[in-house]
Amino acid sequence: MSEPARGPVVIVGAGQAGMQLATGLRQLGSTASITLVGDERCPPYERPPLSKAYLTGELERERLWFRHEQAYARQDVELRLATRAVAIDRAARTVTTAAGEVLPYEYCVLATGARARRLEVPGAELAGIHLLRGLDDADRLRAAIRPGVEVAVVGGGYIGMEIAASLTKLGARVAVIEAAPQVMSRGVAPVVADHVARRHRAEGVRLETGVGVAGFVGDEAVRAVRLADGREVAAELVVVGIGAAVNDELAAAAGLATDGGVPTDACARTADPAIFAIGDVAVQDHAFLGRHVRLESVQNAVDQAKAVARTLATGTPTPMREVPWFWTQQFDMMIQMVGWADAGLEWVLRGETATGAFAAYALADGAIQAVHAVNRGADYALGRRLVRERIRAEPGQLADPAFDPKTLLPARRGR
Ligand SMILES: Cc1cc2nc3c(=O)[nH]c(=O)nc-3n(C[C@H](O)[C@H](O)[C@H](O)COP(=O)(O)OP(=O)(O)OC[C@H]3O[C@@H](n4cnc5c(N)ncnc54)[C@H](O)[C@@H]3O)c2cc1C
Repeated sequence: MSEPARGPVVIVGAGQAGMQLATGLRQLGSTASITLVGDERCPPYERPPLSKAYLTGELERERLWFRHEQAYARQDVELRLATRAVAIDRAARTVTTAAGEVLPYEYCVLATGARARRLEVPGAELAGIHLLRGLDDADRLRAAIRPGVEVAVVGGGYIGMEIAASLTKLGARVAVIEAAPQVMSRGVAPVVADHVARRHRAEGVRLETGVGVAGFVGDEAVRAVRLADGREVAAELVVVGIGAAVNDELAAAAGLATDGGVPTDACARTADPAIFAIGDVAVQDHAFLGRHVRLESVQNAVDQAKAVARTLATGTPTPMREVPWFWTQQFDMMIQMVGWADAGLEWVLRGETATGAFAAYALADGAIQAVHAVNRGADYALGRRLVRERIRAEPGQLADPAFDPKTLLPARRGR
């Protein structure tokens, strides 16, 4: 494209990415008609608090909305809630809703996100087994928690560990079951994963690692989780947090190729020049990382949406070049991560884990590729620049507490 979008833009999925795109288009002065179609009942909302402050009751429901419903109307964005898109006709350039309404588009943007993956094992249909992706899930889970209740969280990734921390705070007795040898091990510095495990144990969370789940035990309601080694973990309530399944069926049914998500170029364009894909659903050719990835993070959803807003508002294809970053909060730990952590990186520790505030820097071929900080916001903030600018460092320098990694940055004029 070389012209701004003039015809209708239909955004399918009113989550983080869809909301950001709709508002971003208006902020950039786009005059195209914009329809934001979402199948949930409430206005677009933030998901991160669902496993954190909203689950513990520290954040009220209305505080989750990005903005009130009327704010969309004021920006002339047509927000269709409780509306499911069921088909895309690429030849006719229309989106059809479950109610049979046909919405014509010049550009269609898929922002359908992902859903929580179910664990298909015997007993999976028992009452008391929860998933957590949306607000309704969080409300159901919160309503089921009372002090002393025995909970098994299946999956020790960041969502599982956040849920474990939040439910422990509410007085539940929590066990986490993780098939890998360590919790939070995928894409996280080993020293950070070890610290997280220690911190959870200190709070009374039982960690069963290196063992899978064979099934759930109970008559109508779940009573225990049966582990692959035959042992049982008693649980009146189970939360399954084993990752996400991508909502790419709409794209596939429209004849677009899918490959664990909807493949796009660096500007979020799919194989059909009239259709873009952003957020959790997109497998993008990542301009900074130089590889195809599907990322599940607020940063990715927001930055991709901003880039597509620019593309559609100006007519100039705009790639998303941002360095990936992410955070998770568990107990008193604010963990912030920037960069890309492959297995086998060389990690250097700055600070002492015993203090509860430290950072791990990852080097790849002599350059800083990732920084993972626990309660060390300054290292994280600096890390964003060090990683973006692919700054080189020696492991010995980074490990030296007297060395200031800020000095690695090239001097700026006026600094
Ligand atoms: C519990 C939880 C905690 C998280 N914590 C963090 C965190 O701490 N930090 C972080 O960076 N990220 C976190 N994330 C991830 C982050 O929330 C997601 O990466 C982000 O929401 C992705 O935005 P999205 O717009 O792609 O998808 P979503 O926000 O999932 O929005 C997609 C929307 O599209 C709707 N939809 C799907 N299909 C259709 C259809 N056919 N028609 C109409 N609507 C449709 C969906 O129902 C949904 O409302 C968390 C996620 C969860 C679930």
